[in-house]
Amino acid sequence: MKPTWVRNAAAEAIRKLLLLAQQGKGKPRRYAELAVKKSKKYNVPLKKSRRLICKKCGAVLIPGKNLRVRLASKPKKTIIYTCLECGNKMRFPTGEKLKKRKVPKR
Ligand SMILES: [Zn+2]
Repeated sequence: MKPTWVRNAAAEAIRKLLLLAQQGKGKPRRYAELAVKKSKKYNVPLKKSRRLICKKCGAVLIPGKNLRVRLASKPKKTIIYTCLECGNKMRFPTGEKLKKRKVPKR
């Protein structure tokens, strides 16, 4: 485990990279790639930001531009994100079960 201050610095860098990627200036794909790399190296979870990047092609997803968001209720309540650049579908669980899930304490 890396020291806390190193992980905090990494989290800050990741936040900035994702912000840059979302703005679409320069090389958004490269910024997203670096953010994912940093998150793995320094063990900093991307949390909900992982939804902003396509797992298959690495594109930065922007709703209405290259991202389609749909809700599905069967078989389980899920949010379906479709990347319009490669057609990859990502499913994220939602609903009551998610709230009850236990979070391990550190
Ligand atoms: Zn994609």
